Amino acid sequence: MNQKYFPMIRKALESSFPKACRCGRVYQNELDYLICTEPTPQGMALDYRELESVLFSFRNCKCRSTTGLELFGKMPLPEMNNLFEELHQEAKKNKITSQQMLDQFNQAYIAWRLAKG
Ligand SMILES: [Zn+2]
Repeated sequence: MNQKYFPMIRKALESSFPKACRCGRVYQNELDYLICTEPTPQGMALDYRELESVLFSFRNCKCRSTTGLELFGKMPLPEMNNLFEELHQEAKKNKITSQQMLDQFNQAYIAWRLAKG
Protein backbone atom coordinates (compact mmCIF):
# COMPACT_ATOMS: atom_id res chain seq x y z
CA MET A 1 0.00 0.00 0.00
CA ASN A 2 1.39 3.36 -1.02
CA GLN A 3 1.90 5.42 2.12
CA LYS A 4 2.86 8.68 0.46
CA TYR A 5 -0.57 10.20 1.10
CA PHE A 6 -0.68 9.30 4.78
CA PRO A 7 1.14 12.38 6.19
CA MET A 8 -1.11 14.62 4.09
CA ILE A 9 -4.24 12.91 5.37
CA ARG A 10 -2.99 13.14 8.93
CA LYS A 11 -2.45 16.87 8.54
CA ALA A 12 -5.83 17.35 6.87
CA LEU A 13 -7.66 15.53 9.67
CA GLU A 14 -6.04 17.58 12.46
CA SER A 15 -8.50 20.41 11.85
CA SER A 16 -11.44 18.02 12.50
CA PHE A 17 -10.63 17.98 16.21
CA PRO A 18 -11.85 18.45 18.87
CA LYS A 19 -14.86 16.56 17.50
CA ALA A 20 -18.05 16.05 19.48
CA CYS A 21 -20.36 13.06 19.10
CA ARG A 22 -24.08 13.63 19.50
CA CYS A 23 -23.86 11.76 22.86
CA GLY A 24 -21.63 14.48 24.21
CA ARG A 25 -18.33 12.62 24.03
CA VAL A 26 -15.62 14.95 22.76
CA TYR A 27 -12.68 13.47 20.91
CA GLN A 28 -9.70 15.70 21.54
CA ASN A 29 -7.52 14.48 18.71
CA GLU A 30 -7.23 11.82 16.05
CA LEU A 31 -5.52 9.27 18.29
CA ASP A 32 -8.21 9.64 20.97
CA TYR A 33 -10.78 9.18 18.19
CA LEU A 34 -9.15 6.11 16.65
CA ILE A 35 -8.47 4.40 19.98
CA CYS A 36 -11.85 5.11 21.59
CA THR A 37 -14.10 4.33 18.61
CA GLU A 38 -14.85 1.10 16.78
CA PRO A 39 -14.45 0.40 13.08
CA THR A 40 -17.59 0.23 10.97
CA PRO A 41 -18.12 -2.43 8.27
CA GLN A 42 -17.58 0.27 5.68
CA GLY A 43 -14.58 2.23 6.90
CA MET A 44 -14.44 4.73 4.13
CA ALA A 45 -16.75 6.07 1.48
CA LEU A 46 -16.13 7.96 -1.66
CA ASP A 47 -18.82 10.27 -2.91
CA TYR A 48 -19.02 12.42 -5.98
CA ARG A 49 -20.76 15.72 -5.48
CA GLU A 50 -20.87 17.30 -8.87
CA LEU A 51 -17.23 17.12 -9.90
CA GLU A 52 -15.80 17.21 -6.44
CA SER A 53 -14.47 14.14 -4.77
CA VAL A 54 -15.35 13.69 -1.15
CA LEU A 55 -13.78 11.19 1.14
CA PHE A 56 -15.34 10.16 4.42
CA SER A 57 -13.83 8.05 7.14
CA PHE A 58 -16.38 6.38 9.42
CA ARG A 59 -16.08 5.13 13.01
CA ASN A 60 -18.60 4.12 15.65
CA CYS A 61 -18.67 5.92 18.98
CA LYS A 62 -19.25 3.84 22.13
CA CYS A 63 -22.86 5.14 22.05
CA ARG A 64 -23.14 3.33 18.67
CA SER A 65 -23.59 6.51 16.64
CA THR A 66 -21.57 6.53 13.47
CA THR A 67 -19.36 9.56 13.10
CA GLY A 68 -17.41 10.53 10.04
CA LEU A 69 -14.40 12.62 9.20
CA GLU A 70 -14.56 14.43 5.91
CA LEU A 71 -11.41 15.08 3.96
CA PHE A 72 -12.85 17.29 1.28
CA GLY A 73 -11.79 20.92 1.66
CA LYS A 74 -9.00 19.91 3.99
CA MET A 75 -6.73 18.20 1.51
CA PRO A 76 -5.58 19.87 -1.72
CA LEU A 77 -7.93 18.83 -4.54
CA PRO A 78 -5.21 17.79 -7.05
CA GLU A 79 -3.65 15.44 -4.51
CA MET A 80 -7.03 14.07 -3.55
CA ASN A 81 -7.87 13.37 -7.19
CA ASN A 82 -4.49 11.67 -7.66
CA LEU A 83 -5.17 9.53 -4.61
CA PHE A 84 -8.56 8.45 -5.99
CA GLU A 85 -7.09 7.72 -9.37
CA GLU A 86 -4.38 5.54 -7.83
CA LEU A 87 -6.87 3.73 -5.64
CA HIS A 88 -9.11 3.01 -8.64
CA GLN A 89 -6.17 1.70 -10.65
CA GLU A 90 -4.92 -0.42 -7.78
CA ALA A 91 -8.42 -1.86 -7.33
CA LYS A 92 -8.52 -2.77 -11.01
CA LYS A 93 -5.07 -4.33 -10.89
CA ASN A 94 -5.98 -6.41 -7.82
CA LYS A 95 -9.42 -7.27 -9.25
CA ILE A 96 -11.27 -5.91 -6.27
CA THR A 97 -13.92 -3.21 -6.06
CA SER A 98 -13.03 0.42 -5.42
CA GLN A 99 -14.88 0.13 -2.11
CA GLN A 100 -12.69 -2.80 -1.03
CA MET A 101 -9.66 -0.79 -2.07
CA LEU A 102 -10.83 2.20 -0.02
CA ASP A 103 -11.40 -0.02 3.00
CA GLN A 104 -7.90 -1.47 2.67
CA PHE A 105 -6.48 2.02 2.33
CA ASN A 106 -8.40 3.16 5.40
CA GLN A 107 -7.15 0.21 7.47
CA ALA A 108 -3.57 0.77 6.33
CA TYR A 109 -3.84 4.46 7.21
CA ILE A 110 -5.20 3.71 10.70
CA ALA A 111 -2.44 1.15 11.37
CA TRP A 112 0.14 3.68 10.21
CA ARG A 113 -1.41 6.48 12.31
CA LEU A 114 -1.58 4.36 15.47
CA ALA A 115 2.04 3.28 15.00
CA LYS A 116 3.09 6.94 14.86
CA GLY A 117 1.63 7.50 18.30
ZN1 LIG B 1 -21.27 8.99 20.98
